[in-house]
Amino acid sequence: MHPPLAPLKEKTREGAFYIPKKMKNLETLCVQAGWTPSKGEPRVLPIYQSTTFKYDSSEQMARLFDLEDQGYFYTRLANPTNDAVAAKINALEGGVGCVLTSSGQAANFYAVFNICQAGDHFITSNSIYGGTFNLFGVTLKKLGIECTFVDPEWDDERIENEFKPNTKCFFGETISNPGGNVFDIERFADMAHRHGVPLIVDNTFATPINCRPFEWGCDIVTHSTTKYMDGHATQVGGAVVDSGNFPWDKYADKFPGLTTPDESYHGLTYTKKFGRQAYITKIVSQLMRDMGSIPSPQNSFLLNLGLETLHLRMPRHCENAQRVAEWLEANPHVAWVNYPGLKTNKYHELAKKYMPNGTCGVIAFGLKGNREDAIRFMDNLEFICIVTHVADARTCVLHPASHTHRQLSDEQLMEAGVRPDLIRLSVGIENCDDIIADLKQAME
Ligand SMILES: *Cc1c(COP(=O)(O)O)cnc(C)c1O
Repeated sequence: MHPPLAPLKEKTREGAFYIPKKMKNLETLCVQAGWTPSKGEPRVLPIYQSTTFKYDSSEQMARLFDLEDQGYFYTRLANPTNDAVAAKINALEGGVGCVLTSSGQAANFYAVFNICQAGDHFITSNSIYGGTFNLFGVTLKKLGIECTFVDPEWDDERIENEFKPNTKCFFGETISNPGGNVFDIERFADMAHRHGVPLIVDNTFATPINCRPFEWGCDIVTHSTTKYMDGHATQVGGAVVDSGNFPWDKYADKFPGLTTPDESYHGLTYTKKFGRQAYITKIVSQLMRDMGSIPSPQNSFLLNLGLETLHLRMPRHCENAQRVAEWLEANPHVAWVNYPGLKTNKYHELAKKYMPNGTCGVIAFGLKGNREDAIRFMDNLEFICIVTHVADARTCVLHPASHTHRQLSDEQLMEAGVRPDLIRLSVGIENCDDIIADLKQAME
Protein backbone atom coordinates (compact mmCIF):
# COMPACT_ATOMS: atom_id res chain seq x y z
CA MET A 1 0.00 0.00 0.00
CA HIS A 2 1.31 3.38 -0.80
CA PRO A 3 -0.26 6.58 0.44
CA PRO A 4 -2.21 8.16 -2.40
CA LEU A 5 -0.60 11.29 -3.74
CA ALA A 6 -2.87 14.18 -2.96
CA PRO A 7 -5.07 14.97 -5.99
CA LEU A 8 -2.93 17.99 -6.58
CA LYS A 9 -4.44 19.13 -9.81
CA GLU A 10 -7.88 19.68 -8.27
CA LYS A 11 -6.50 21.29 -5.15
CA THR A 12 -4.04 23.55 -6.87
CA ARG A 13 -5.03 27.20 -7.10
CA GLU A 14 -2.70 29.57 -8.89
CA GLY A 15 0.21 27.21 -8.42
CA ALA A 16 -0.06 27.03 -4.64
CA PHE A 17 -1.77 24.50 -2.46
CA TYR A 18 -5.39 25.23 -1.81
CA ILE A 19 -5.94 27.36 1.29
CA PRO A 20 -9.57 27.03 2.44
CA LYS A 21 -11.28 30.41 2.66
CA LYS A 22 -12.16 30.01 6.33
CA MET A 23 -8.49 30.20 7.19
CA LYS A 24 -8.28 33.95 7.54
CA ASN A 25 -6.18 34.71 10.56
CA LEU A 26 -2.46 34.21 10.92
CA GLU A 27 -2.82 31.86 13.89
CA THR A 28 -5.01 29.48 11.90
CA LEU A 29 -2.74 29.70 8.87
CA CYS A 30 0.31 28.83 11.01
CA VAL A 31 -1.35 25.66 12.24
CA GLN A 32 -3.43 24.59 9.26
CA ALA A 33 -2.42 26.15 5.95
CA GLY A 34 -0.62 24.26 3.22
CA TRP A 35 -1.49 20.63 3.80
CA THR A 36 -5.24 20.05 3.57
CA PRO A 37 -5.72 16.30 3.22
CA SER A 38 -8.66 14.65 1.50
CA LYS A 39 -10.44 11.54 2.66
CA GLY A 40 -8.05 8.82 3.79
CA GLU A 41 -4.90 10.90 3.40
CA PRO A 42 -2.43 11.42 6.27
CA ARG A 43 -3.53 14.17 8.66
CA VAL A 44 0.09 15.26 9.13
CA LEU A 45 2.06 16.62 6.18
CA PRO A 46 3.83 13.58 4.67
CA ILE A 47 7.49 13.67 3.75
CA TYR A 48 7.55 12.92 0.03
CA GLN A 49 11.12 11.71 0.10
CA SER A 50 11.23 10.93 -3.58
CA THR A 51 13.24 12.53 -6.35
CA THR A 52 10.73 11.62 -8.97
CA PHE A 53 7.04 11.07 -9.70
CA LYS A 54 5.22 8.64 -11.91
CA TYR A 55 3.08 9.34 -14.99
CA ASP A 56 1.09 7.09 -17.28
CA SER A 57 2.14 8.42 -20.65
CA SER A 58 4.99 10.21 -22.29
CA GLU A 59 2.48 12.85 -23.42
CA GLN A 60 1.55 13.66 -19.78
CA MET A 61 5.20 14.11 -18.91
CA ALA A 62 5.88 16.30 -21.94
CA ARG A 63 3.13 18.71 -20.94
CA LEU A 64 4.75 19.16 -17.54
CA PHE A 65 8.09 20.00 -19.12
CA ASP A 66 6.40 22.59 -21.33
CA LEU A 67 4.81 24.21 -18.25
CA GLU A 68 1.45 23.40 -19.88
CA ASP A 69 0.28 21.33 -16.92
CA GLN A 70 0.94 21.51 -13.22
CA GLY A 71 2.24 18.44 -11.49
CA TYR A 72 5.30 16.86 -9.98
CA PHE A 73 8.07 15.23 -11.94
CA TYR A 74 11.38 15.99 -10.29
CA THR A 75 12.02 17.32 -6.79
CA ARG A 76 14.50 19.97 -7.94
CA LEU A 77 11.56 21.71 -9.64
CA ALA A 78 8.78 20.86 -7.21
CA ASN A 79 7.98 18.45 -4.40
CA PRO A 80 4.65 18.15 -2.57
CA THR A 81 6.15 18.46 0.93
CA ASN A 82 8.12 21.54 -0.06
CA ASP A 83 5.14 23.03 -1.85
CA ALA A 84 2.79 22.58 1.09
CA VAL A 85 5.17 24.51 3.33
CA ALA A 86 5.75 27.15 0.67
CA ALA A 87 1.96 27.54 0.44
CA LYS A 88 1.78 28.15 4.18
CA ILE A 89 4.48 30.84 4.08
CA ASN A 90 2.84 32.38 1.03
CA ALA A 91 -0.48 32.56 2.90
CA LEU A 92 1.19 34.08 5.97
CA GLU A 93 2.81 36.82 3.88
CA GLY A 94 -0.23 37.32 1.65
CA GLY A 95 1.61 36.64 -1.62
CA VAL A 96 0.69 35.06 -4.96
CA GLY A 97 3.44 32.47 -4.81
CA CYS A 98 6.39 31.29 -2.76
CA VAL A 99 9.39 29.11 -3.40
CA LEU A 100 11.47 27.47 -0.69
CA THR A 101 15.24 27.42 -1.01
CA SER A 102 17.96 25.46 0.75
CA SER A 103 19.08 28.52 2.76
CA GLY A 104 18.35 32.17 3.38
CA GLN A 105 21.45 33.01 1.37
CA ALA A 106 20.03 31.18 -1.65
CA ALA A 107 16.73 33.03 -1.21
CA ASN A 108 18.38 36.45 -1.30
CA PHE A 109 20.59 35.41 -4.20
CA TYR A 110 17.61 34.21 -6.24
CA ALA A 111 15.48 37.22 -5.32
CA VAL A 112 18.06 39.58 -6.82
CA PHE A 113 19.48 37.38 -9.58
CA ASN A 114 15.98 36.73 -10.95
CA ILE A 115 15.87 40.33 -12.21
CA CYS A 116 19.55 41.35 -12.39
CA GLN A 117 22.17 40.17 -14.84
CA ALA A 118 25.72 41.18 -15.74
CA GLY A 119 25.78 44.92 -16.38
CA ASP A 120 22.91 45.64 -14.00
CA HIS A 121 22.96 47.53 -10.74
CA PHE A 122 20.89 47.56 -7.56
CA ILE A 123 20.74 49.46 -4.29
CA THR A 124 20.71 48.02 -0.79
CA SER A 125 20.45 49.34 2.71
CA ASN A 126 23.83 48.94 4.41
CA SER A 127 22.20 47.61 7.61
CA ILE A 128 21.95 43.99 6.53
CA TYR A 129 23.12 40.54 7.57
CA GLY A 130 26.87 39.92 7.12
CA GLY A 131 26.34 37.04 4.70
CA THR A 132 24.10 39.15 2.50
CA PHE A 133 26.62 42.00 2.67
CA ASN A 134 29.27 39.67 1.19
CA LEU A 135 26.92 38.13 -1.35
CA PHE A 136 25.96 41.55 -2.68
CA GLY A 137 29.28 43.37 -2.35
CA VAL A 138 31.69 40.61 -3.39
CA THR A 139 30.09 37.60 -5.06
CA LEU A 140 27.46 39.32 -7.20
CA LYS A 141 30.15 41.76 -8.29
CA LYS A 142 32.08 38.81 -9.74
CA LEU A 143 28.97 38.05 -11.80
CA GLY A 144 29.00 41.60 -13.13
CA ILE A 145 26.18 42.91 -10.92
CA GLU A 146 27.07 46.14 -9.15
CA CYS A 147 25.54 47.07 -5.83
CA THR A 148 25.47 50.43 -4.05
CA PHE A 149 25.19 50.39 -0.25
CA VAL A 150 23.22 53.31 1.14
CA ASP A 151 22.60 54.40 4.69
CA PRO A 152 18.82 54.48 5.22
CA GLU A 153 19.42 57.49 7.50
CA TRP A 154 20.42 59.62 4.51
CA ASP A 155 17.73 61.95 3.19
CA ASP A 156 15.68 60.98 0.14
CA GLU A 157 17.60 63.19 -2.26
CA ARG A 158 20.95 61.68 -1.38
CA ILE A 159 19.64 58.11 -1.76
CA GLU A 160 17.72 58.87 -4.96
CA ASN A 161 20.96 60.14 -6.50
CA GLU A 162 22.20 56.55 -6.41
CA PHE A 163 19.54 55.31 -8.87
CA LYS A 164 20.90 54.76 -12.39
CA PRO A 165 19.24 53.74 -15.65
CA ASN A 166 20.43 50.14 -15.05
CA THR A 167 19.20 49.97 -11.42
CA LYS A 168 16.88 46.97 -11.04
CA CYS A 169 15.81 46.77 -7.39
CA PHE A 170 16.14 48.11 -3.86
CA PHE A 171 16.86 45.81 -0.88
CA GLY A 172 16.51 46.09 2.91
CA GLU A 173 15.83 44.05 6.07
CA THR A 174 12.69 44.74 8.14
CA ILE A 175 14.83 44.51 11.27
CA SER A 176 18.51 44.28 10.51
CA ASN A 177 20.65 41.41 11.74
CA PRO A 178 22.49 42.07 14.02
CA GLY A 179 22.06 45.82 14.52
CA GLY A 180 18.31 45.82 15.11
CA ASN A 181 17.67 48.82 12.84
CA VAL A 182 14.11 49.10 11.57
CA PHE A 183 13.70 49.65 7.82
CA ASP A 184 11.16 52.26 6.74
CA ILE A 185 9.39 49.95 4.27
CA GLU A 186 6.79 52.41 3.03
CA ARG A 187 9.33 55.15 2.39
CA PHE A 188 11.61 52.86 0.39
CA ALA A 189 8.75 51.18 -1.48
CA ASP A 190 7.60 54.62 -2.66
CA MET A 191 11.14 55.56 -3.60
CA ALA A 192 11.80 52.32 -5.50
CA HIS A 193 8.48 52.67 -7.36
CA ARG A 194 9.26 56.28 -8.34
CA HIS A 195 12.27 54.80 -10.13
CA GLY A 196 10.35 51.89 -11.66
CA VAL A 197 11.95 49.10 -9.63
CA PRO A 198 10.66 46.67 -6.98
CA LEU A 199 11.46 46.72 -3.28
CA ILE A 200 12.77 43.43 -1.86
CA VAL A 201 12.57 43.04 1.93
CA ASP A 202 14.22 40.32 4.00
CA ASN A 203 11.57 39.76 6.67
CA THR A 204 13.47 37.10 8.65
CA PHE A 205 13.54 38.76 12.07
CA ALA A 206 10.04 40.22 12.13
CA THR A 207 8.30 37.19 10.56
CA PRO A 208 4.81 37.69 9.09
CA ILE A 209 3.45 37.42 12.64
CA ASN A 210 4.85 40.86 13.45
CA CYS A 211 5.10 42.52 10.04
CA ARG A 212 3.73 41.85 6.57
CA PRO A 213 5.84 44.00 4.23
CA PHE A 214 3.42 43.63 1.28
CA GLU A 215 0.91 45.71 3.23
CA TRP A 216 3.40 48.58 3.09
CA GLY A 217 4.14 48.44 -0.63
CA CYS A 218 7.03 45.96 -0.66
CA ASP A 219 7.03 43.76 -3.78
CA ILE A 220 9.14 40.72 -2.88
CA VAL A 221 9.78 39.22 0.56
CA THR A 222 12.62 36.88 1.45
CA HIS A 223 13.27 34.78 4.53
CA SER A 224 15.93 32.78 6.19
CA THR A 225 13.52 30.14 7.53
CA THR A 226 16.46 28.90 9.61
CA LYS A 227 15.55 31.49 12.25
CA TYR A 228 12.17 32.07 13.95
CA MET A 229 10.12 30.25 11.34
CA ASP A 230 11.87 27.01 12.22
CA GLY A 231 12.48 28.26 15.73
CA HIS A 232 14.26 25.15 16.98
CA ALA A 233 17.50 25.35 15.01
CA THR A 234 16.89 22.08 13.19
CA GLN A 235 17.17 23.03 9.52
CA VAL A 236 18.75 25.68 7.28
CA GLY A 237 16.31 27.05 4.73
CA GLY A 238 14.98 30.08 2.92
CA ALA A 239 11.97 31.38 1.06
CA VAL A 240 11.10 33.96 -1.60
CA VAL A 241 7.53 35.26 -1.69
CA ASP A 242 6.05 37.31 -4.55
CA SER A 243 3.34 39.90 -3.86
CA GLY A 244 2.34 39.78 -7.52
CA ASN A 245 2.01 43.56 -7.41
CA PHE A 246 5.00 44.82 -9.35
CA PRO A 247 4.04 45.91 -12.90
CA TRP A 248 6.91 44.27 -14.82
CA ASP A 249 5.29 44.97 -18.18
CA LYS A 250 5.10 48.69 -17.47
CA TYR A 251 8.91 48.69 -17.25
CA ALA A 252 9.37 45.98 -19.85
CA ASP A 253 12.74 47.31 -21.05
CA LYS A 254 14.20 47.04 -17.58
CA PHE A 255 13.14 43.44 -17.03
CA PRO A 256 13.65 41.58 -20.31
CA GLY A 257 14.04 38.26 -18.44
CA LEU A 258 10.38 38.48 -17.49
CA THR A 259 8.90 40.33 -20.45
CA THR A 260 10.63 38.78 -23.47
CA PRO A 261 10.69 35.15 -24.66
CA ASP A 262 12.79 32.69 -22.65
CA GLU A 263 14.74 30.64 -25.19
CA SER A 264 15.26 27.91 -22.62
CA TYR A 265 11.46 27.45 -22.54
CA HIS A 266 10.68 27.44 -26.25
CA GLY A 267 10.11 31.17 -26.34
CA LEU A 268 7.65 31.43 -23.45
CA THR A 269 7.26 34.94 -21.97
CA TYR A 270 6.74 34.85 -18.19
CA THR A 271 4.56 37.94 -17.84
CA LYS A 272 2.32 36.84 -20.73
CA LYS A 273 1.91 33.29 -19.59
CA PHE A 274 1.87 33.68 -15.79
CA GLY A 275 0.65 37.25 -15.19
CA ARG A 276 1.04 38.19 -11.54
CA GLN A 277 3.05 35.04 -10.90
CA ALA A 278 5.67 35.81 -13.54
CA TYR A 279 8.49 36.59 -11.12
CA ILE A 280 8.03 33.60 -8.82
CA THR A 281 7.47 31.19 -11.72
CA LYS A 282 10.72 32.31 -13.31
CA ILE A 283 12.61 31.57 -10.08
CA VAL A 284 11.32 28.00 -10.05
CA SER A 285 11.41 27.17 -13.71
CA GLN A 286 14.67 28.89 -14.54
CA LEU A 287 16.88 29.53 -11.49
CA MET A 288 15.90 26.44 -9.54
CA ARG A 289 16.08 24.30 -12.66
CA ASP A 290 19.57 25.56 -13.50
CA MET A 291 21.13 26.10 -10.10
CA GLY A 292 19.37 23.82 -7.63
CA SER A 293 19.29 25.01 -3.99
CA ILE A 294 16.10 23.18 -3.06
CA PRO A 295 15.41 22.19 0.53
CA SER A 296 15.15 18.50 1.27
CA PRO A 297 11.54 17.41 1.96
CA GLN A 298 12.72 16.23 5.38
CA ASN A 299 13.84 19.79 6.21
CA SER A 300 10.58 21.26 4.99
CA PHE A 301 8.73 18.87 7.27
CA LEU A 302 10.76 20.16 10.23
CA LEU A 303 10.21 23.76 9.14
CA ASN A 304 6.48 23.10 9.04
CA LEU A 305 6.50 21.86 12.64
CA GLY A 306 8.15 25.12 13.63
CA LEU A 307 5.65 27.20 11.68
CA GLU A 308 2.78 25.53 13.52
CA THR A 309 3.77 27.42 16.71
CA LEU A 310 5.26 30.60 15.22
CA HIS A 311 2.25 32.67 16.36
CA LEU A 312 2.75 31.46 19.96
CA ARG A 313 6.52 31.83 20.06
CA MET A 314 6.89 35.32 18.57
CA PRO A 315 4.89 37.15 21.25
CA ARG A 316 6.86 35.31 23.95
CA HIS A 317 10.20 36.20 22.31
CA CYS A 318 9.11 39.84 22.20
CA GLU A 319 7.84 39.90 25.77
CA ASN A 320 11.05 38.35 27.13
CA ALA A 321 13.27 40.56 24.98
CA GLN A 322 11.45 43.69 26.10
CA ARG A 323 12.07 42.82 29.76
CA VAL A 324 15.71 41.88 29.14
CA ALA A 325 16.31 45.07 27.11
CA GLU A 326 14.86 47.22 29.90
CA TRP A 327 16.98 45.37 32.44
CA LEU A 328 20.13 45.87 30.33
CA GLU A 329 19.36 49.55 29.83
CA ALA A 330 19.22 50.07 33.60
CA ASN A 331 22.39 48.03 34.22
CA PRO A 332 25.55 49.99 35.17
CA HIS A 333 27.85 47.53 33.30
CA VAL A 334 26.07 48.17 30.01
CA ALA A 335 27.29 50.97 27.71
CA TRP A 336 24.41 50.94 25.22
CA VAL A 337 21.40 48.86 24.13
CA ASN A 338 19.71 48.74 20.75
CA TYR A 339 16.25 47.22 20.88
CA PRO A 340 13.42 48.83 18.92
CA GLY A 341 10.96 48.10 21.73
CA LEU A 342 12.76 50.57 24.03
CA LYS A 343 11.19 54.01 24.16
CA THR A 344 14.67 55.56 24.00
CA ASN A 345 15.50 53.69 20.80
CA LYS A 346 15.82 55.74 17.66
CA TYR A 347 13.76 53.21 15.72
CA HIS A 348 10.98 53.07 18.31
CA GLU A 349 8.51 55.12 16.27
CA LEU A 350 9.15 53.09 13.10
CA ALA A 351 8.81 49.89 15.12
CA LYS A 352 5.44 51.05 16.48
CA LYS A 353 4.26 51.82 12.96
CA TYR A 354 5.34 48.58 11.30
CA MET A 355 5.31 46.18 14.26
CA PRO A 356 2.75 47.35 16.82
CA ASN A 357 2.68 43.92 18.49
CA GLY A 358 6.44 43.67 18.98
CA THR A 359 9.55 43.33 16.86
CA CYS A 360 11.63 40.23 17.63
CA GLY A 361 13.75 38.66 20.35
CA VAL A 362 17.11 39.97 19.22
CA ILE A 363 18.87 42.66 21.23
CA ALA A 364 22.18 44.32 20.37
CA PHE A 365 24.17 45.82 23.21
CA GLY A 366 27.67 46.80 24.27
CA LEU A 367 29.38 46.38 27.64
CA LYS A 368 31.50 49.04 29.28
CA GLY A 369 35.15 48.02 29.07
CA ASN A 370 37.15 46.48 26.25
CA ARG A 371 36.72 43.60 23.84
CA GLU A 372 38.14 41.10 26.37
CA ASP A 373 35.42 42.06 28.87
CA ALA A 374 32.77 41.22 26.30
CA ILE A 375 34.39 37.86 25.61
CA ARG A 376 34.74 37.09 29.36
CA PHE A 377 31.08 37.94 29.89
CA MET A 378 30.00 35.54 27.18
CA ASP A 379 32.28 32.77 28.43
CA ASN A 380 30.77 33.12 31.93
CA LEU A 381 27.21 32.51 30.82
CA GLU A 382 25.73 29.23 32.00
CA PHE A 383 22.72 28.08 29.98
CA ILE A 384 22.84 30.94 27.51
CA CYS A 385 25.19 29.51 24.89
CA ILE A 386 27.56 31.06 22.40
CA VAL A 387 26.33 29.82 19.04
CA THR A 388 26.50 30.99 15.45
CA HIS A 389 22.78 31.14 15.41
CA VAL A 390 20.01 33.48 16.32
CA ALA A 391 16.27 33.50 16.70
CA ASP A 392 15.45 30.13 18.16
CA ALA A 393 13.71 28.96 21.31
CA ARG A 394 16.97 28.87 23.31
CA THR A 395 18.56 32.13 24.41
CA CYS A 396 21.99 32.54 22.83
CA VAL A 397 24.74 35.12 22.28
CA LEU A 398 27.26 36.00 19.62
CA HIS A 399 29.97 38.61 19.14
CA PRO A 400 29.68 39.42 15.42
CA ALA A 401 33.06 41.17 15.19
CA SER A 402 34.83 37.97 16.22
CA HIS A 403 32.32 35.50 14.75
CA THR A 404 29.86 36.04 11.88
CA HIS A 405 31.32 39.31 10.60
CA ARG A 406 35.01 38.58 11.17
CA GLN A 407 35.79 38.89 7.45
CA LEU A 408 34.70 42.55 7.53
CA SER A 409 37.14 45.35 8.40
CA ASP A 410 36.29 47.69 11.30
CA GLU A 411 35.27 50.29 8.73
CA GLN A 412 32.95 47.83 6.93
CA LEU A 413 31.58 46.76 10.31
CA MET A 414 30.60 50.32 11.12
CA GLU A 415 29.17 50.69 7.60
CA ALA A 416 27.04 47.59 8.19
CA GLY A 417 25.79 49.13 11.44
CA VAL A 418 27.80 46.67 13.54
CA ARG A 419 29.91 48.23 16.25
CA PRO A 420 33.04 46.22 17.12
CA ASP A 421 31.82 45.91 20.75
CA LEU A 422 28.32 44.75 19.72
CA ILE A 423 27.02 41.64 21.48
CA ARG A 424 24.00 40.05 19.83
CA LEU A 425 21.69 38.51 22.38
CA SER A 426 18.91 36.37 20.99
CA VAL A 427 16.33 36.09 23.72
CA GLY A 428 14.52 32.76 23.77
CA ILE A 429 11.25 31.60 25.23
CA GLU A 430 12.52 30.31 28.59
CA ASN A 431 11.40 31.84 31.87
CA CYS A 432 12.62 35.43 31.74
CA ASP A 433 13.75 35.49 35.39
CA ASP A 434 16.18 32.69 34.59
CA ILE A 435 17.51 34.52 31.53
CA ILE A 436 18.12 37.68 33.52
CA ALA A 437 19.72 35.71 36.38
CA ASP A 438 22.21 34.12 33.96
CA LEU A 439 23.09 37.51 32.42
CA LYS A 440 23.46 39.01 35.87
CA GLN A 441 25.85 36.39 37.24
CA ALA A 442 27.97 36.54 34.08
CA MET A 443 28.27 40.32 34.33
CA GLU A 444 29.23 40.20 37.95
C1 LIG B 1 20.57 34.22 8.76
C2 LIG B 1 20.11 35.25 7.84
C3 LIG B 1 20.27 35.12 6.46
C4 LIG B 1 20.97 33.94 5.84
O1 LIG B 1 20.22 32.80 6.04
P1 LIG B 1 20.79 31.32 6.07
O2 LIG B 1 19.58 30.51 6.26
O3 LIG B 1 21.76 31.24 7.21
O4 LIG B 1 21.47 31.09 4.77
C5 LIG B 1 19.77 36.11 5.65
N1 LIG B 1 19.16 37.19 6.17
C6 LIG B 1 18.99 37.35 7.49
C7 LIG B 1 18.31 38.57 8.01
C8 LIG B 1 19.45 36.39 8.38
O5 LIG B 1 19.29 36.56 9.70
